[in-house]
Amino acid sequence: MPIEFEAPKPIVQTQFMLKTVVDEMMRPRSRYFDEHEHEVPWDYIEFMHLAMKASGGSSLAPRENGNGKDGDEKEKRPRIGYQLIAAQIESLAYGDLGMYHCLPGGALGAAAVHAAGTPEQKEKFLARFKDEKPTFAAMCITEAGAGSDNSAIRTRAVLDEKTNEWVINGEKIFVTGGDKSFSEYEKLGNGFIVVWATIDPSAGRAGMRAFVVEGGTPGVRIVKLEHKLGIRVSDTAAISLVDARVPFENILGSATVEKSTSGFRGAMATFDATRPLVAASGIGVARAALEFLKEKLEENGVKIQYGLPRQKLSNIEREVIDMEIMLKSAWLMVIKATWMADNKKPNALEASMSKVKSGDVTTKITQKVVEILGPLGYSREFLAEKWMRDAKITDIYEGTGQINRLVVARQILGYSGSELR
Ligand SMILES: Cc1cc2nc3c(=O)[nH]c(=O)nc-3n(C[C@H](O)[C@H](O)[C@H](O)COP(=O)(O)OP(=O)(O)OC[C@H]3O[C@@H](n4cnc5c(N)ncnc54)[C@H](O)[C@@H]3O)c2cc1C
Repeated sequence: MPIEFEAPKPIVQTQFMLKTVVDEMMRPRSRYFDEHEHEVPWDYIEFMHLAMKASGGSSLAPRENGNGKDGDEKEKRPRIGYQLIAAQIESLAYGDLGMYHCLPGGALGAAAVHAAGTPEQKEKFLARFKDEKPTFAAMCITEAGAGSDNSAIRTRAVLDEKTNEWVINGEKIFVTGGDKSFSEYEKLGNGFIVVWATIDPSAGRAGMRAFVVEGGTPGVRIVKLEHKLGIRVSDTAAISLVDARVPFENILGSATVEKSTSGFRGAMATFDATRPLVAASGIGVARAALEFLKEKLEENGVKIQYGLPRQKLSNIEREVIDMEIMLKSAWLMVIKATWMADNKKPNALEASMSKVKSGDVTTKITQKVVEILGPLGYSREFLAEKWMRDAKITDIYEGTGQINRLVVARQILGYSGSELR
């Protein structure tokens, strides 16, 4: 089969459409929301919700069957569900990474339901994103003593056999969109958070399970919203759960603890799907910075010359071209990882590789842009310094650069988590 490097038509169309959103709704307010941390861009949220509904999608969460149905003989087009989402995310992050995180829809919460839920649970919990009101979901795995090593979580879920409910106790931190998913549920639709807990602490990873906790559940409280370096418009919540009761059927996957680590694998499967998307978001920020640099250079009479031998280029031209190469190669890794997800091929290696590469490239490019622009880069008059602050998070959440390097090494060398840590 020939390799096709042209982006499929739906991707080109969505990129074109989202450029208008970037120009009209994101960029003009990027600075405002950076300076007014925790203010919610409601009009953007409502607009995006309506726009997504009008275009037939309820969220940017992947549809179960990509763009084609399993076993549908008439559907001959290649599946591009994840590739399309990656392109959308790249485009929105190019506008503003924090505002992209304010997009209504399931985000990591829905991704966890996709990865660990049964078909009935997917049907039940994901339908709400098509509702009239914008609806959010978040995923809470990180705890004070369990970030990179999330198998160390201490949040506990115990089954109350009398009521057939799970009783959950624990403290979660750094939950993206936690507030919008949980406590803003009156203004918004019926949001939920997916809480990872252990049902058997003695079983280690085999005891880990995810629970859908509906917005407003008694016993669950947003303890604080983080003040952050970047993506300041996106709420990052600390959440406490004290005797929070959820129905038995809200446990994602099996309630039986066997020797298998299927619960933990559910968490990891979520990341196989979402790490390339985080990589895509970083690339959007880096592209924004690089395009801005080229624009400023041109305004000052420096137009990058392509096709000349390297020794004939100025230092600035070499730096810009090198950054473009870095950006394009990082994007190709995103395409590979998402193409594999679309084609239901195991992509743990490629997902982590794409995230490592993008985290590095994005951090380097945004810093370099500030460096080359000098005072213009450092000034708050322009967004370059903000992009540098925003970019770093893509190398931290959903597995830091170091952790994803470990995942890559384990996959290539054939070591388990306990053999290479
Ligand atoms: C803005 C933001 C949003 C977030 N959103 C979410 C969310 O929605 N849901 C959620 O559950 N979590 C979320 N997180 C948490 C994020 O995923 C964790 O912060 C991240 O996984 C790192 O965990 P940690 O903070 O405990 O750091 P640690 O694990 O303590 O790591 C600290 C440093 O040590 C390094 N390190 C750790 N172990 C190793 C090792 N074995 N080898 C080499 N180096 C190592 C790390 O790479 C890092 O540099 C978010 C975090 C932030 C900042």
